[in-house]
Amino acid sequence: MKRFALAGNPNCGKTTLFNSLTGSTAYVGNWPGVTVDKKEGTYKKLEEPISIIDLPGIYSLSPYSPEEVISRNYILDEKPDCVINIVDGTNLERNLYLTTQLLEMDVPMILAINMADLIAKNNQSIDTNKLSKILDIPVVEISALKESNLEDLMKKAYETSKHPRKGKTILKGCKLDSLINKVNNEYLSEEISNPLFHAIKLIENDEIEIQLHKNILPLVTESKKDFNDEIFGSDFEAIIADERYKFLSKNIANIIVKNDGSNQDPNQLKTTLSDKIDKVLTNRIWGIPIFIAVLFVIFHLTFATNFLYLKNIFPLNEDGEIINVTLQGTPWEGLIVSADGVASPGVFLQTCLVGFTDWITDLTKTGLESIQGDQVWVSGLICDGILAGIFSVLSFLPQICLLFLFFAILEDTGYMARIAFILDRIFRRFGLSGRAFMPMIMGFGCSIPAMINTRTLADDNERTTTIRVIPFFACGAKLPVLTAVAGQIAIMCNINNPDLFTLACFLVGIVTALITVIIMKATVNRGAVPPFVMELPSYHLPQLKALGIHVWDKIKHFVKKAFTVILASNILIWFISHVNLSWNAFLPDEEISNSIAATIGKLLQPIFTPLGFGSNLAGEFGWIFVVATICGLIAKENVLSIFSALSAAIAGGTMDDYTTSQAMEMIVDATNITTYALFAFAIFNLLTIPCFAAVATAKAELPKNKFKGTILFWLVSSFFVGSMFYLIPTYWWTCFIYLAIIGSGIGGIIYYNKYQDKKNNTLKGTD
Ligand code: GDP
Ligand code: MG
Repeated sequence: MKRFALAGNPNCGKTTLFNSLTGSTAYVGNWPGVTVDKKEGTYKKLEEPISIIDLPGIYSLSPYSPEEVISRNYILDEKPDCVINIVDGTNLERNLYLTTQLLEMDVPMILAINMADLIAKNNQSIDTNKLSKILDIPVVEISALKESNLEDLMKKAYETSKHPRKGKTILKGCKLDSLINKVNNEYLSEEISNPLFHAIKLIENDEIEIQLHKNILPLVTESKKDFNDEIFGSDFEAIIADERYKFLSKNIANIIVKNDGSNQDPNQLKTTLSDKIDKVLTNRIWGIPIFIAVLFVIFHLTFATNFLYLKNIFPLNEDGEIINVTLQGTPWEGLIVSADGVASPGVFLQTCLVGFTDWITDLTKTGLESIQGDQVWVSGLICDGILAGIFSVLSFLPQICLLFLFFAILEDTGYMARIAFILDRIFRRFGLSGRAFMPMIMGFGCSIPAMINTRTLADDNERTTTIRVIPFFACGAKLPVLTAVAGQIAIMCNINNPDLFTLACFLVGIVTALITVIIMKATVNRGAVPPFVMELPSYHLPQLKALGIHVWDKIKHFVKKAFTVILASNILIWFISHVNLSWNAFLPDEEISNSIAATIGKLLQPIFTPLGFGSNLAGEFGWIFVVATICGLIAKENVLSIFSALSAAIAGGTMDDYTTSQAMEMIVDATNITTYALFAFAIFNLLTIPCFAAVATAKAELPKNKFKGTILFWLVSSFFVGSMFYLIPTYWWTCFIYLAIIGSGIGGIIYYNKYQDKKNNTLKGTD
């Protein structure tokens, strides 16, 4: 099969084009660095099927980032039949810099100018014929998003792929011409493919090139001797880059035609509105508060049971009546307005879904009762064990969808990239690069792709640090746990805005991540901060298709997991909570505290005493939180499954099914857990070892010898932060213990760094 490779700058629309051409649903993100690995798909609308490869986005073909190396090696080694170089037409000059380098390779090539819709909107047009003559390759204007002109592009690419092309350089005629010719001839005589590309790279002193063709280096060094540039001296990489830019600025300006005849500088046209918005959103002082406010609005829309604080404005009575409007007896009763207040869209959708799943449980129960005879445990296993567990997890699906939809909007509009930018500016001081924040933000969806995405980080230390903190960004599976606990805390505190507590958990996760990153950078993962170049993508309205892909991408795992891992673990949980150590018979619900689960829980309980849900919990059900935490190591959703599966038992053996919040309430009553301990429980589960799948991914992605340390790191940080939230408010004097630990930690780090500096200095001295 013929292979066409898509190459271009980050964020120029490669993945959008790839998706349009192949019908796949690869991740499109409005920020650079989303595509780490190359992806393959098939285009079927030509006379033969064509394999399309989406290469990672690059600014040049120098070996400064893993993406650049992946893309460069792919074209050189795998020799695709055609390179489709896609450029952002609203940023033509800069994007063509890469084009001038790609042209030097011996590969058929076609230029696709993307974002034709925006170019037209800017009232511009691009003289493609002229550009095609200058570059000596076909040029097609397309819109990957609106899917316009794609067939034309593919037809021309197909035509192009039939004829081999020799590399050409736009450096012809510049002062380096004779040098390039000389080296090129040397490569030609050695019959190396892509001679021109290699020759220019060697003149640039490119690391990879020097490794590959050491033998030609002396010739280059010799020829360079009598060459000295006034500005750049003998920095040949800079001289060549400068020549490329000179060429582009000379030739490109008149390619872009302003349709109304005015002669505005095309570079000035890039949306000034965008700049104005950026002045506010990326403001030094206001950037972070604005981000937190945005998060608050999102959480409020998703989780608030007292939407817009309407209850505080128009007080409701016990039956959920606003002033004189009664909703009782109408279909709306409890759905929109409850005693808590008015439901937010997220809560409303959840109530609808819960109504539906309750109906299914009831049907199943009635069905089972008529056939089960005296085998009571069958209905117990199916209704309380399996259905209750799965439904309690699924009941959060509407809220998860909504939250991801909002995140997708933030990302697709370009706002998330700004957040990475703001954070980079602040934390660069602490020795971090903003590159690491991209995978971290992805962690809000699922830790697994986020950890894989750390491959964009060149530095091993930075990768380790990032992978370790990714689980602190609450993923979709942790969300139901946090929400359920937050709901209960809100009840216990008599505040009817659980969204505040959910948001608080998220923020604790983010802050812990930032602090631990700083600590690791200062201790175990020291190293220079790699440079971080990021171009802020332009703002645009969110695209329905992209949003759909994002949300589906995230919830599909969640749904799939509910019916596989969660289903299996629910059955397991039901068994270990209905069988005792001697395995002689199924225990009735009321004897659950003799079960294997309880035995294990009680055994491990003392460990969790500093977190408030250990041995200090009196009563026969005190072990429940420990068991929930342990089952959460398989999948975090299990924490909830445990609560809902065991709530029936706790209620005294009745077979009624309970909503997640009723289950939580019963468990809190049965165990007498305090508010602070409950919060500590949520935080501990958020920060501790993530689910099985994430641990396996971490093991595969971490550099050698870092895995055990990572597990230890998760345990220590979750224990430290979790216990802090329980102990300090419960026994105020414990704050001195924490202060002492933190103080000696900081002291230790300062001392250690001084010692390291000294060591480095003495080493230098002896050199
Ligand atoms: P990649 O980094 O090169 O893979 O770029 P993506 O495919 O992820 O696209 C980056 C952003 O540009 C996304 O927000 C797209 O929706 C947007 N985009 C891509 N193609 C077009 C287009 O033709 N017109 C417009 N207006 N936006 C586009
Ligand atoms: Mg991409």
